[in-house]
Amino acid sequence: METIAAILRDKGNTVFTVDPQTTVLRAVETMCVYGIGSVLVCDGEGQPCGIFTERDLMTQVILARRDPEGTRVEEVMTSDVVCVEPTTGMREAMAIMTEKRCRHLPVIHDGLLVGLVSIGDLVRCTSRNQEYEIRVLNDYITGRYPA
Ligand code: AMP
Repeated sequence: METIAAILRDKGNTVFTVDPQTTVLRAVETMCVYGIGSVLVCDGEGQPCGIFTERDLMTQVILARRDPEGTRVEEVMTSDVVCVEPTTGMREAMAIMTEKRCRHLPVIHDGLLVGLVSIGDLVRCTSRNQEYEIRVLNDYITGRYPA
């Protein structure tokens, strides 16, 4: 079964992070510059202590009428971060996202942050695998499958 490690091999290990004291405005700038939907909030030791996503921007900042320039990310982030490991299966990761209602999962290996997968990464990878399966099955039923 395909695991999260396969996605990281493809997309790499880069995770965009901010300090807890970063303002919401700066965090949003980072998200816009890199075209991402979340930033991981890391403490001085580089350990994840929260996650801030577009959803938090809507609910905790805009709807709550907070000033993005005067609000620190630590005030509006989700502190209880759910993580996965490189060995986690893709289906399991999807089940976690569904159950926890989130679209971003940091990946931790041996206590170290090694990547982050989004629901988009999972969907892309699953659909690529399905395309491959369809091609192989198609070749098989049309007699093009190597003997
Ligand atoms: P998302 O769907 O990823 O934009 O996030 C929806 C909500 O879940 C937001 O409040 C996020 O802060 C939170 N969230 C996103 N990813 C995680 C995660 N890995 N662990 C805990 N909360 C998360």
